[in-house]
Formats: sequence, structure tokens, C-alpha cells
Amino acid sequence: MISAGKRPTNALPKALADYSRGVDLFYFANALIVQDDSRRLLEFSKLREDAFNVTAMTQCCGTVMCGIHRAFEGGAIWATPDSCSITGASDMAPQFYLFANDFPADKCLKLPLRNSIPTLGSAYDEMNSAPLQALMSAVRAPVDTRLVQRDYTTFDQLVSVCDVKIDNACFEQSRSRL
Ligand SMILES: [Zn+2]
Repeated sequence: MISAGKRPTNALPKALADYSRGVDLFYFANALIVQDDSRRLLEFSKLREDAFNVTAMTQCCGTVMCGIHRAFEGGAIWATPDSCSITGASDMAPQFYLFANDFPADKCLKLPLRNSIPTLGSAYDEMNSAPLQALMSAVRAPVDTRLVQRDYTTFDQLVSVCDVKIDNACFEQSRSRL
């Protein structure tokens, strides 16, 4: 919603706006090759001072490029094809629904994969569940340097030379839609 508010062409996908599906998140190793001119266009934000997520957006068009969560311990980033273009990703099937507590209950029951993958209400309450333990183990794994073809940077290194803005622009709006 924050990205959609940055530019008229960043419309929130209709299926997300009406809760017909969730946001797809892909996870990648925290090993990034970023050209200098792209690096200058990145800005970093989080929803609150003590937020666990930091998000990288573009200053030019408000595209959400990727983000990081403290629980990943620097091993991984997330990205969403709902905002940026993701190519070459594996075709791993969706593993679970997360933060279902933030979804209207009736819409939750109608989610496309509702009966075939687990539904977790809150990551923080269900951290010991098998799906989240599997995710944590994957995202905390060290970068396999055999797979990295050039010198790379990490999300943390990109953030370390930038200010992180607090941007919670859509909080009220997001809560009022439930
Ligand atoms: Zn742009």
C-alpha cells in the first residue's frame, strides 16, 4: 500500500486489495550485485523505530525491491513479485500462509491454497511450528559462496551507509480494511 501510494502506476493488485490472495514473498541469499547508479536510487525504511523489517524501495518510482528481517540473521532477503520483477527464481511451491491474523477471517477460509498448505496466524506466536522452523533454518544459512559469481554486497552493507526512514503511511488505512 505504501508503494502504491508513491506513484499512480503502482496500483495495488486488485486481488490483494480485496483479500483474494496474500502477498507472495520469495527468499534469496543475502548476496547482491548492485550497480552504482541503482544503488543511488535506493532508499531504506521501516514501519517503526523498533521494527524488525527494513525495506529497500526505489526513490524513482517507489518500487519495493527487497527487505530484510532481523530474524534472518543476515542470511537472506525477501522480495515480492507484486512490486518488483523477479526472474530466475526457483519454482518452489508456496510453503505456508503467514500472518493470517491480519486477514479477514471469512476471506482467509477462501484463500486459494487454504486446504493444501499450513495457515499460521502470527509468526511471533508460532515461531516453533514446523513451517517457520524450516524457513528460519533456510534463511539463516550462510551464503554458499560457490554459487556467487562476482564480488557481492549484502543488504546490511547497503543500509549501513544510508539513513533508514520511518514510514508507516498506511497503518490506519490497512487496519480499517479488516
Ligand atoms: Zn524506478
